[in-house]
Parts: sequence; C-alpha cells; structure tokens
Amino acid sequence: MSGEFDLIARYFTVPAPVGMLGVGDDCALVPVAPGYQLATSTDLLIQGRHFLPDVSPVALGHKALAVNLSDLAAMGARPLACLLSLGLPRVDEAWLAGFSQGFLQLAERAGCALVGGDTTRSDIIVINVTVLGQVAPAQALRRSAALPGDTIWVTGSLGAPDVALELLQQSPCSNPGMLARVRPLLETPEPPVAMAPGLAGLAHAAIDISDGLLQDLGHVLKASRCGAQLDFDALPMHPALAALPEPRATQAVLCGGDVYQLCFTARADATAAIHELAARHGVDATLVGRVVETPGLQVLRRGQPIELPERGGFDHFA
Ligand code: ADP
Ligand code: MG
Repeated sequence: MSGEFDLIARYFTVPAPVGMLGVGDDCALVPVAPGYQLATSTDLLIQGRHFLPDVSPVALGHKALAVNLSDLAAMGARPLACLLSLGLPRVDEAWLAGFSQGFLQLAERAGCALVGGDTTRSDIIVINVTVLGQVAPAQALRRSAALPGDTIWVTGSLGAPDVALELLQQSPCSNPGMLARVRPLLETPEPPVAMAPGLAGLAHAAIDISDGLLQDLGHVLKASRCGAQLDFDALPMHPALAALPEPRATQAVLCGGDVYQLCFTARADATAAIHELAARHGVDATLVGRVVETPGLQVLRRGQPIELPERGGFDHFA
C-alpha cells in the first residue's frame, strides 16, 4: 500500500447515507432535520494514557467511537455522523483492518456514518473521534436541569471496567476468571445510544459515567444546584464483583470510571415509562435514588449514610 490515500480508501471509505456527502471531498455535508440542533462532542485517545499498547485493535476501534456515542446519548441526541483522525507510527495492515472493523461495525449499528477525518504520521498512536448528532433544543438533557424530587437512574451496570483495568495492570493477573467476565465492559462498552433520544419528556438532566458515578453525578448536582440521596443497595453492581472483598467492590461501584453508561434524573411520575422505554431497547435501567433540595450527595446503605471517599473518581490532572 503506497500511502495515506490508499489507507483511507481501503479502510475508512464507506458509502455515505442518502442525503450526506462522505469521505473524499474537502468537507462532509450532513443535513440536520428542521427544528433540531447539531449536538457535537470530541474525544482524544492516546496510546499509553487511554489504552494499553496491547489492546485488541477491534476493541479499540469500537471503544474510540463508543466513548463519543456515550456523550451524544447523555445529551439525548441521536447520532448522525462521525469524523475520525488518526496519528499512526506506521502502516500496520493487521492493526488497521481490526481497528476499522471495530469502529465501522459500531458506526453502522449506531446509525453514525463515518464521513471524514484526517490521517497523519506520529510517534505513538493517537485517535481523535468527533461525533455529530441532532436533538431538539427543548429536549437536550443538560447537566443543569435536575430538579428536587426527580428520580435518579443508572443504565447498565457499575464497577466492572474499573476492576478489569486493575486486573490488566497486574502481571501476572491475580484472577483470570474474574478478568474474563469484566474485560468486555472495559474494552467494548455499549452506551444506550438508541434508547437515549426516547428519554425526551421523561428525563431532565443526564451525564455519561466516564469518571465514576459519584464524580459524574456530582457534576449534575453542582450544575443543577441541588443534592441527592442514593440507595447503595439499589445500585446495579456488576454481578462478577460480588466475589470481591470489601471495600474494593463498593469503591469500584461508586468511583470506578470507564463505564460509558448514563446517569440521568427524571420526573418522579415517569418510572413506568422509563422501565418500558429501557425494556424496548434491551437496556437495564435502575432507579437508584432521588434529587433533593439540600446540596451534597448522601449514599445510604441499609438506611445508614456511608462514608464517601475524598475524591470521587478519575481526574487527569490530579
Ligand atoms: P485534506 O487535505 O482536506 O485534509 P485529506 O487528504 O486529509 O484531506 O483527506 C481526504 C479525504 O479523506 C477527506 O474527505 C477526509 O475527510 C478523509 N479522511 C482522511 N482521513 C480519514 C480517516 N482516518 N477516516 C475517515 N476519513 C478520512
Ligand atoms: Mg488531511
């Protein structure tokens, strides 16, 4: 293969959906439905910092897009298209085949067409994905929109990615059986992309859980100037974590990052509708607490407040 253009043609040129202009021109053209706003978000993934050098390229391609789709979901936006920029040390055909497969399979499933990007040489692998979605202005799930009395919900499960990361960093791994169960949640997260636009009219505020439930819910509460009570016993801990000693399981559930599921607040009378919406999309949605007027986050276990860690989650500059 002779270079950049062959590489793009071979691995990253997919037919654009009807009405869009995709890879191959100076810009992509993406129509937004009348009455909708463009929702856009971008994420940078750097080898050694955001992914381990030996991660499977298929999983990496999936995750590079999934972490962005998770942001669209957290806004209640429906995916339209995405851009992929790659910095690569060399043209590694096996890596490119795997990466593009993982990326494009999720893109197709999520209805998020790859319409452009940039490709350049760099010393280590750098991946930047930008997603474009659409949402009606009144239906965007802003962090500042939680109201006292709202119910608080979490989709999917909590804790598994954090445990997987810890086990992958050990050599040798202390618990291969556990790793086999939790690893897919770290490497191939499945944010509730199709369900999220259906939250319009039911949910008020939402955020995706990337840095840990406490920290991410904390952002919502701060922006909304209110507090919350969480029922620890209701939190959807991944079942594999039941075998872990405490306080590790509790810490993973409350503070573990890389989840890429949603935490959202909703009208108190929307509980049945949310369960129905989630079931329709094959998503587990769990009611885990309530928004209260008094600022601060309280977590109750068997009715008693538990002591919370100082720092709630992951901070790149801490
Ligand atoms: P430009 O000179 O405008 O930067 P390029 O030559 O870099 O354009 O890219 C040619 C076309 O290929 C453009 O449409 C661009 O969006 C697309 N492209 C480049 N890299 C990628 C990639 N990694 N994935 C998808 N499309 C890409
Ligand atoms: Mg370019």
